[in-house]
Amino acid sequence: MDTRPVDHTTTDRRLGRLPSGSPVHATVHQYAGGEGPSVYVQAAQHGIELNGPAALRRLHGRLCDTAIAGTVVVVPLVNPLAFDHRSYVASASLDAFNPNLNRVWPGDADGTLQERMAANLWSLVTDADAVVDLHTGTADMLEHVRYAADDGVARSIARAFGTEYLLADPGPDDGEDHAGKLRTAAARASLPAITVELSNSRTVAHEAIEAGVSGVTNVLRELDVLADAPADPSGGVTLDGDTEPTTATTSGLFETRPDVAVGDDVTAGEELGTLYCPSSFDHLATVTAETDGVVYSLTREGIVVAGERLAGVAPRR
Ligand SMILES: [Zn+2]
Repeated sequence: MDTRPVDHTTTDRRLGRLPSGSPVHATVHQYAGGEGPSVYVQAAQHGIELNGPAALRRLHGRLCDTAIAGTVVVVPLVNPLAFDHRSYVASASLDAFNPNLNRVWPGDADGTLQERMAANLWSLVTDADAVVDLHTGTADMLEHVRYAADDGVARSIARAFGTEYLLADPGPDDGEDHAGKLRTAAARASLPAITVELSNSRTVAHEAIEAGVSGVTNVLRELDVLADAPADPSGGVTLDGDTEPTTATTSGLFETRPDVAVGDDVTAGEELGTLYCPSSFDHLATVTAETDGVVYSLTREGIVVAGERLAGVAPRR
């Protein structure tokens, strides 16, 4: 390995323009060492997902102080539109057609504001040999990493990241649900990519930050950017990511079954909770697991509208 002390530079990258004429910027950090692979890491596509940027700030201190082979490109905050509004997605007033940045990759230079932002960042993605997209789930989602099951490198960096649960997705051309996600677009461009769901969106949570720092560090070790070997990822549970989430068949107030929690094994048809009408008290629906498997997400944000995701259950592989 050709490790050399890191040369760190930052660039203020103009991603787009607001109606007022104010620019939309993202800061791009580049950590350059000796000859080696290039890794692209981004966080905060969704504005309430704070543990990614917090983890990358800590990683910055470590990378600046070390020797690496290759280049690490980090965009800690890719979506200032959502972040500044403390919102999951961008306001419809800025992008009514594509509120969710993680549905527009690889973007469109002539498209809506967020399509243009993605298109601008896409050249950083395609310059890389591997891609890490840091997200944060709700308190009721198991920390996990998603990867394309048929991509050996994606699988190896997903395992190296070190979360207890891995979700193996079908290839990029299967599964409409994944269209426009950075991971899927990267896979279509033959780039190994992982989506990381750290825990606890909306909060800065130290455990999640530590998981993010050690996870990205282990990915860089696995790819031989950092010299030491990744920590042993043994003990991980791989789930089949190609399962439909359980969604609300009608709108109402959702109460989860009191004795079911994320991490539990359930069987197909098993009750996960109940939808009530909060006004008439009518029982509207019993919500059940679609398949045998592990409950990896379960909403406790009780007000739900028809079609909204209530739970994710994935079979063990
Ligand atoms: Zn997200």
